[in-house]
Amino acid sequence: MSTDLFTPLSFDYPSPYPFTICAGPCSAETEAQTYETAKQLQACGIRLFRASLWKPRTRPGTFEGVGEEGLPWLRRIETELGMQALTEVASPSHVESALRAGLHTFWIGARTTASPFAIAELAEALRGTEVTLLVKNPLNPDIELWEGALMRFLHAGITQIGAVHRGFSTYGKGQYRNTPLWQIPIELSRRHPELTILSDPSHIAGRRELVPVVSRASMEMNFSGLMVEVHPHPDEAWSDSAQQLTPAALVSLLDALDIHPTRNTADSEELRALRGEIDRIDHELLRLMSERMKYAQHIGTIKAKAHLPIVQPERYRYLIEERLRDGKALGLEEGFLHELFSSIHEASVHVQHTHSHSES
Ligand code: PEP
Ligand code: MN
Repeated sequence: MSTDLFTPLSFDYPSPYPFTICAGPCSAETEAQTYETAKQLQACGIRLFRASLWKPRTRPGTFEGVGEEGLPWLRRIETELGMQALTEVASPSHVESALRAGLHTFWIGARTTASPFAIAELAEALRGTEVTLLVKNPLNPDIELWEGALMRFLHAGITQIGAVHRGFSTYGKGQYRNTPLWQIPIELSRRHPELTILSDPSHIAGRRELVPVVSRASMEMNFSGLMVEVHPHPDEAWSDSAQQLTPAALVSLLDALDIHPTRNTADSEELRALRGEIDRIDHELLRLMSERMKYAQHIGTIKAKAHLPIVQPERYRYLIEERLRDGKALGLEEGFLHELFSSIHEASVHVQHTHSHSES
């Protein structure tokens, strides 16, 4: 059990929605575009406004953000519209200039979270300040890196910390821009039940048509809220134009979400009974798995004596195909079956390998 205690993020204004909602353009482009977007969001009751000033770009030659020039634009949104404006910081110099401009709410981008050196420097730059900080997951699916970054900030004395799931880079293109590996934020939440974790459906989806389904999926998984990219004219946005929504589209998305995140609620009798069944089945699965491993181990000793290789491709192909067919007939998903049996096979190979070594 971790001794690092995160507390839920708190904002000192009421939200019209039963969850935290942070919205705004991918990038601040001009003062007029930034102000206009904020004003429209403020009219919908949204108080947490996002806009990047410094943009990490994959390739040179694309819009890299307006930089320091936009700091007073964001500050004006705070003073004139009563909103809380947050922007991405990736270096101590970003932090220093943003603090000097009077800003006090920041997020750490996915590329930065992946670098412990950068995180350590940022934590030092923020030490002793009263800021609110959101930490996005790293690009690669490594929960330790994400949790490690959160802890570095906590150890630097920052207490208002939340996390943002924005999906992960995976090889090959699925339907999403960044694959949502939900088990990672769910595990983070298991380790730190009080940590506020938002979902960023815009960077997960990559296409505005998918933003509503990813938002709904996130809220069904009990995220504390959403960070959504919004632009008054999404098609004309200077960055991430395919994934931004108009303010009106955001409002209809939010109005259609009738899910309330819960925290430590008492479970109903029915839920408790159903979970009891799940526990019983899992116990049985474990017992069967252990029995299966014993057979694998026995086969391993026979292979070692006969000087046969542990992995026999024919057998592996047969096993996967057979299990996929059987499992699909039982209504299980192909991707899941594939992952499950590759992983079981890998564990069997490991057991046979260690066993044949201990025998010799
Ligand atoms: C962003 O929020 O616009 C952004 C660049 O995010 P990420 O770090 O998740 O790619
Ligand atoms: Mn973006």
